[in-house]
Amino acid sequence: MKISEIGGEFALIRRLTQGKPADKRVIQGIGDDCAVIEQNKGSYLLVTTDMMVEDDHFSLKWYSPYQIGMKLMEVNVSDIVSMAGIPHYAFLAMCMPSFATVEFMDEFYKGMYASADKHGVFIIGGDTTHGHKYVFNLTILGEVEKKLMRLRSSAQNGDQICVTGTLGGSTAGLKLLEKGLSGYIQDHVEPKSRTAAEAQLIACYAHAMIDVSDGLASEITHICNESKTGAGINYDTIPLSEHTIKSAELLHEDPHEFALYGGEDFELVFTISKKNISELKKHFADFSVVGEILRKEMGVYLFKNGKKQSLKSGYNHFS
Ligand code: ADP
Ligand code: MG
Repeated sequence: MKISEIGGEFALIRRLTQGKPADKRVIQGIGDDCAVIEQNKGSYLLVTTDMMVEDDHFSLKWYSPYQIGMKLMEVNVSDIVSMAGIPHYAFLAMCMPSFATVEFMDEFYKGMYASADKHGVFIIGGDTTHGHKYVFNLTILGEVEKKLMRLRSSAQNGDQICVTGTLGGSTAGLKLLEKGLSGYIQDHVEPKSRTAAEAQLIACYAHAMIDVSDGLASEITHICNESKTGAGINYDTIPLSEHTIKSAELLHEDPHEFALYGGEDFELVFTISKKNISELKKHFADFSVVGEILRKEMGVYLFKNGKKQSLKSGYNHFS
């Protein structure tokens, strides 16, 4: 049976792991950006892992080794940050093909360390092997103050749905590269995680939080599934950069689609009660309201050109 026949990546993970026991120190197992483990009175231990495979997550035609290293670190830091956590320690497992060179690996590590230094992460272990392609897997351990931790499951009916920065830039860059068009590709080859300090400010006022790895539609669907709510997204309020709008014009495509179904923007999506928005704005203002959390029976939909349409979920490996 093909994995797509059971509903793709997330259905497979459920099938493989459902009903298996975890000890009582596991506060959150599978199903959020990080696993959350009891640590001490005031904080939880966070663990996340993400893999990047040559020709799937990066192409050697378009990325310098420095950029691959940087992206791997940013992608993983983003999962810790999205829980309002602080990243601390990293382990890198890497698979190198026979054509790998010392110079390539030097540059890859320089990129990884540049990002690690920025976020206060120390690389303290890993594993090294060989295979047919480059495969890099990073695991990060971090911690979060218990009272600041924000899960996907804490959205409340009536919350406003907000997004930091702008979305769709990574997909716009990827599409330009794929079509051989020149334009702004920075958001694709050098995506940046939000910082722990920014996420902690947001967490002081927000209910649920997630980072954008698979597109706004997918992240909203995760929040709604875990929080047992519905949601309405306003197409016109999805934040796009000038670069993304210009790239979409060149590509003759709709940049909103990049934001909804593309992914790898690593911005934060959070839900917040209406009354807290102006308070958060005093401390952190780089966000837009894109929709509202609704009762579960309302479903998850997109409001576009005065009409409701159901929201397709975003990127899903094997779907
Ligand atoms: P993110 O996009 O935030 O990195 P993922 O979509 O990769 O999150 O993963 C969603 C959840 O599924 C996470 O809790 C992750 O730890 C878990 N997960 C992913 N792959 C597996 C697997 N092969 N076995 C068990 N859990 C997995
Ligand atoms: Mg995530």
